Amino acid sequence: MTPATQEYDAVVVGAGISGLYAVHTLRKRGMFVLGIESAAGVGGTWYHNRYPGARCDVESIDYSYSFDEDLQQEWTWSERFATQPELLAYLEHVAERHDLARSFDFLTRVIAAEYDEAAATWTVRTDTGRTVTARFCIMATGVLSATNRPEIPGRDAFTGESYHTGEWPHEPVDFTGKRVAVIGTGSSGIQSIPVIAETAAHVVVYQRSPNYSIPAGNRPLTPEQIAEVKATYPERRRKARLSGGGTPFTPYPKGAMEVDDDERQRIFDEWWHRGGYLFAKAFPDQTVNMAANDAAREYVEARIRQMVEDPDLADQLIPTDHPIGTKRIVTDSGYFTTFNRDNVSLVNLRRTPIEEITETGIRTTDGERELDMIVFATGFDAMTGALSRIDIRGRDGRELREAWAAGPRTHLGLMVDGFPNMFMMVGPGSPSVLANMVLGAEQQMDWIAACLDHLRGRGGVAIEPTPEAVDEWVAECSAKAAGTLFPSANSWYMGANIPGKPRVFMPYIGGFAAYGQILDEVARDGYRGMVITAADGPTGSGSKQDALVGHGER
Ligand code: FAD
Ligand code: NAP
Repeated sequence: MTPATQEYDAVVVGAGISGLYAVHTLRKRGMFVLGIESAAGVGGTWYHNRYPGARCDVESIDYSYSFDEDLQQEWTWSERFATQPELLAYLEHVAERHDLARSFDFLTRVIAAEYDEAAATWTVRTDTGRTVTARFCIMATGVLSATNRPEIPGRDAFTGESYHTGEWPHEPVDFTGKRVAVIGTGSSGIQSIPVIAETAAHVVVYQRSPNYSIPAGNRPLTPEQIAEVKATYPERRRKARLSGGGTPFTPYPKGAMEVDDDERQRIFDEWWHRGGYLFAKAFPDQTVNMAANDAAREYVEARIRQMVEDPDLADQLIPTDHPIGTKRIVTDSGYFTTFNRDNVSLVNLRRTPIEEITETGIRTTDGERELDMIVFATGFDAMTGALSRIDIRGRDGRELREAWAAGPRTHLGLMVDGFPNMFMMVGPGSPSVLANMVLGAEQQMDWIAACLDHLRGRGGVAIEPTPEAVDEWVAECSAKAAGTLFPSANSWYMGANIPGKPRVFMPYIGGFAAYGQILDEVARDGYRGMVITAADGPTGSGSKQDALVGHGER
């Protein structure tokens, strides 16, 4: 029987890529760890996003753990960009290989976490009524895990089938012969629309903002390619860690405006054929210099016009509201050409906005369309949504929601002043969604583990950043963003997709390698900007000092 309250060294919230690695890392250090996951199984993003066409947009060989060399050698990806089932199978395999699931309470949602200063522990409450305490709290809750179902009038009135891409059912969804609406043209909508169109009677795409999307150039990986990758994996990973985005690709060494037209065209062609969102990095100045951005934009516009037969439709599908790359460029498989099909039509919500979802369809200002199914591809309350849905209280009952009322404030994207011993993974203030998030999770968790060793070495019970360190990091993050074109887009990076959310560019845009260097420097400087509470310090928490030593494994 599970006791009502149990003590752990650490609680890890989330069983996605970050949470799995966190549990693995902490357990290896002999810590007594409880993982808590609201889903029925591991996988996080790849558990929840089962919509048709879901794939990674970072190449599978890079979008995979590097910590286990044997795993890296033994696992074989079948395609350049793996499908959701393959990614989920991989994460299930990792969990099994390292026996991680036994540390998790599944089907359990964390609803509150409160810091007890006297004991220097977190009390974590769940929706199953279980309460546990732990010295450390690792929030691996995901930055694209809190789905956004916009408050469209009549949203819940529809009596047909209705799905959100980020909460897709586990049973197969049959589109055959159905009239299907897809609301949203971000990555999820753009990936799913061509697949749904293959069997649906009709697909109506409700587009509020067009998006840049670039064909993935997906293909099966040949045995020769796989052998080459496996033979050179360490070098590939090394390059990835030294790069801006956590993948082994670096932009062309010259700016787009420093080369002549032919050279520019050649480089754009090269990166276009490489496929997907990486196009944003063809030239190093593309997302900082408007002239360079215009050149990239014009190149992609011409490509879209080649793919879409109807010129008026092409006009409507080409973004005009943001510089290319300042919203994540979608990596697609046949998106624009899908609009050449007879069974796909576009409703341009800028011209004819949605008035209401009715029992039988969607009514826009030009009338009602009857539907059998609505797919909400409307995205996420990104970066902060999962954390703000938990009642997190630090020292003196201070709420994280309150501390972040004007936007997330962190030290290094890892910790918040006043919330000792709480670490966040791949969250705001870190490269997060701007880089390969598997390597990002490893980079951060390795740092967290070393930080905990340092704390133990110093005989401390709690560690947290100073308010000044947080101020400095917030200023650094906004200065880095201000040097780019990113803040000019109404993107989810800026919180612009959620009504009332503060407009702040949330990830750290200084680059994956630069961020890693900063983490290393801070550690080398004895965790500069952070304060340790000693076991016999003013908190009087000496009795908890042994917590780090561990009580065996769960
Ligand atoms: P998640 O995978 O989101 O896991 C968080 C987990 O925490 C979830 O399972 C959630 O149920 C659980 N959780 C949250 N709150 C609570 C709570 N209160 N109580 C209990 N459990 C909770 N990134 C890339 O780098 N490359 C890609 O190709 C890529 N493709 C993506 C495709 C899609 C469709 C989406 C949505 C995102 C993609 N991303 C990609 C980003 C992706 O989210 C990360 O790569 C990565 O999977 C994040 O892992 P995570 O463990 O940090 O978070
Ligand atoms: P998203 O990029 O936020 O797109 C949501 C879409 O829904 C947008 O087109 C948005 O329009 C629209 N929308 C939201 N509210 C609406 C409303 N009230 N009425 C009409 N339209 C509305 O979300 P996402 O597509 O789920 O992708 C989120 C992120 O997840 C991606 O950027 C990417 O990082 C990751 N992802 C990656 C992949 C991959 O290829 N591996 C796949 C899926 C997701 P506006 O733009 O006008 O707000």
